[in-house]
Amino acid sequence: MHRAYLDNNATTPVLPEILEAMRPYFSEHFGNASSIHHYGQQTRAAVERSRETVADLLGARPSEIVFTSGGTESDNLAILGLLKPGDHVITSTIEHHAVMNTCKHAEEDGAEVTSVPVDGRGLIDPADVKRALRPNTRLITIMLANNETGVIQPVEEIGKIATEADVYFHTDAVQAAAKIPVDVNKIGCDLLTISGHKIHAPQGIGALYVRKATMLEPLLHGGRHERSRRAGTENVAGIVGLGKAAELAMAAFECGLDVALLRDRLETGLLAAIEAAGVNGEGASRVPNTSNIYFDYIEGEAMVIALDLKGLAVSTGAACSSGAIEPSHVLTAMGLRPERARASIRFSLGKQNTAADIDFALSLVPETVARLRELSPLWKPVRTL
Ligand code: PLP
Repeated sequence: MHRAYLDNNATTPVLPEILEAMRPYFSEHFGNASSIHHYGQQTRAAVERSRETVADLLGARPSEIVFTSGGTESDNLAILGLLKPGDHVITSTIEHHAVMNTCKHAEEDGAEVTSVPVDGRGLIDPADVKRALRPNTRLITIMLANNETGVIQPVEEIGKIATEADVYFHTDAVQAAAKIPVDVNKIGCDLLTISGHKIHAPQGIGALYVRKATMLEPLLHGGRHERSRRAGTENVAGIVGLGKAAELAMAAFECGLDVALLRDRLETGLLAAIEAAGVNGEGASRVPNTSNIYFDYIEGEAMVIALDLKGLAVSTGAACSSGAIEPSHVLTAMGLRPERARASIRFSLGKQNTAADIDFALSLVPETVARLRELSPLWKPVRTL
């Protein structure tokens, strides 16, 4: 059976070059990077090389990169590492649960949380962030690109507001890094999260950029790994994979190769073939790999299952919310009525996708939408009105 995977915002396959770079660190170069002998020195050197490459990807200094287990841990470290009871944090209504639920947890521990809204395109207004500032605001945590829509937030303007107010600024760049150029100094952030498995490195590795002199309480206590910011023996193979993914991303930026052409062909083709459909986040800048489309009068979950049975993997939004009955908090925050939010599908591309994958999707999606609409009691009457 032919299969195509268009759910790369959930996770990506490890690219062959990345797997090759990692392979020796499972076997011949197995040392603990903290050991002082030959074996440890070999892996320490590999960890530090990766730190330099990841720092380059983000315009940071190597000493400002902390390796973690992934995006969720980096978000937790940034938020809980800074907030104390009585502090105020500004976040948004469209954050990933890794940020949203961490802020909720901080609130239960005595912090105050303000969530700024988004407009119909999924964009935060920096003026809302400015208005939300209080004397006890310690942190602004607002994502760079949304995982469901791909919409890119005005983080540089928010960074300026944070600097002027002398407030820390964290941005979750899990869905932006390696897809668009990201520079911590241009953004003006103090903390920035990335995750390996969204950029063709393995699951279980990530990093947090921590601007020099940021006072951050570690979450994990133990040895003095990662400059005492994150205790625990380094995941050397994962770190090497993340470094290689950063290197490949920088090379791709240089030769101008990206997935935007494929994504745009998919989007235009679907909208031309299917009526009562539209792009969520239309009118805003989006990362080049993501397209979130509503197909009115269908159930997104039914569509995901129907397409999967034919070999096409897509999603209704955040991976962790698949199976949940609640419509996406991101789409409802953008003002979509619940039926339209439930009728929305996320297509997200990766470096491994080809034109044939897009052709496959273009051949399957219109007929599947038509079939599901035939089952909808609402479809025909509305169409003949
Ligand atoms: N932040 C965003 C925007 C994400 O999309 C994800 C994963 O979907 C995460 C954080 C969590 O990253 P991880 O899966 O590496 O813990």
